[in-house]
Amino acid sequence: MTIQENISLLPYNTFGIDAKAKIFAEYSSVDELRELLTKYRGEKMLHIGQGSNLLFTGDFDGVILHSAMARARFLDDETVEAQNGLRLDDLIAQLTDMCYCGMEKLSLIPGEVGASAVQNVGAYGVEAKDVIMRVYTLDVETLKERVFTNAECRFGYRDSAFKHELKGRYIVTSVVYHVSKGDATKTRQEIIETRMAKLPTVGEVGSAGSFFMNPFVPEEKAAELLKRYPEMPHFETPQGVKIPAAWLIEQCGWKGKKLGGAQVWHKQPLVIVNANNATPDDIIALAAQVSASVKDKFGIDIHPEVNYI
Ligand SMILES: Cc1cc2nc3c(=O)[nH]c(=O)nc-3n(C[C@H](O)[C@H](O)[C@H](O)COP(=O)(O)OP(=O)(O)OC[C@H]3O[C@@H](n4cnc5c(N)ncnc54)[C@H](O)[C@@H]3O)c2cc1C
Repeated sequence: MTIQENISLLPYNTFGIDAKAKIFAEYSSVDELRELLTKYRGEKMLHIGQGSNLLFTGDFDGVILHSAMARARFLDDETVEAQNGLRLDDLIAQLTDMCYCGMEKLSLIPGEVGASAVQNVGAYGVEAKDVIMRVYTLDVETLKERVFTNAECRFGYRDSAFKHELKGRYIVTSVVYHVSKGDATKTRQEIIETRMAKLPTVGEVGSAGSFFMNPFVPEEKAAELLKRYPEMPHFETPQGVKIPAAWLIEQCGWKGKKLGGAQVWHKQPLVIVNANNATPDDIIALAAQVSASVKDKFGIDIHPEVNYI
C-alpha cells in the first residue's frame, strides 16, 4: 500500500486539472483496502479509477482511494473475472489476443474495470451491462464483501445503483464478465480507428469524453420538434425518444467554441476539452452555457455525464 499526502491529482484525471488531494492512498489487496477504510473512517473519501469521468472542481480535502489490483483470470470457458484497477481496454486487448469476443465494441473506452460497472460504460450499441454477470464489492461500513448480480446493479443508460442509493457505500473490487470464443480483431481495430478519428486522445487533449448524456423525451415532444426540425436524428426506446445531445449542441452553434481555456471539441460537440490550461470554472461555465442554449432553443434539459467532484 502507498499513502501520499498533499499530492497533485494531475496524473489522476484525464481533464488535466491540477487539483490537490490531502491524501492519496493506493492498495494492492482487498485486505489493504479494509485497512485504509478503517484508518480513514470518518474522513471524506472518494474511490477513483483512471479519473476519466471526473471533473475536480477544486482541491479534494479528503482521501482519494485507488486500486493497484489489475489482474484478470478465467473462471471457466465463458467467464472472466477482472480486478477493479485493470484498465478496461487492456482487458479487451488481452481477450482479443486470446481469441475471445463480446466486449470488443467497448474498445478504447478509457477507465478501469471498477468504474465500468458503476458507469455502465457503452459504445456502438453495447453496454457493460450486456456482458457483466456479477460485481464483487466491499461494503465501506461493514468491511464485508457483497456480490451483486447483474439485476441487482439496476443498470441503466450510463447508470447503475452504485450512482444512486448505493453511492459511496460499496467499492467495486472485481467484475465478472461473460465472453465467448471468437475472433474480434477486425471489429476491435475498426472501433479503435473510428474512435481515434473522432475523440480526443487521452494524454494529448484533456477531456472526460462525452460531457453530457443524451436526453430522452416523450413522444409528443419529439413529434413537435420533428415538425420544426425534420432532419433531427432520433431513436425510439422504451425510456422515450432519444435525441443525440451532440446534434442539439451543434445546432446551437457550439462546435469548436471556446470559453477561457475550455472548448467544445471541434470533431464531436458532445465533448468539452481542456484546450488551454482550462480551470474547472472555465469548464463549468462553458457546460452551463451549452446546456442553457439547448434548453432555450429546444426546451430540452441536458445533464452532465461527468461527475463533478
Ligand atoms: C476520451 C474519452 C472517451 C470516452 N468515451 C466513453 C464512451 O465511449 N463510453 C462511455 O460510457 N464512457 C466514455 N468515457 C467516460 C469514461 O471512460 C467512463 O465513464 C469510465 O467508466 C470511467 O472510468 P474511470 O476508471 O476513469 O473512473 P473515474 O472517472 O475515476 O470514476 C468514475 C466514477 O466511478 C466511481 N468509481 C471508480 N472506481 C470505482 C470503484 N472501484 N468502486 C466504486 N466506485 C468507483 C468514482 O467514484 C466516480 O464516481 C470516455 C472518457 C474519455 C476521457
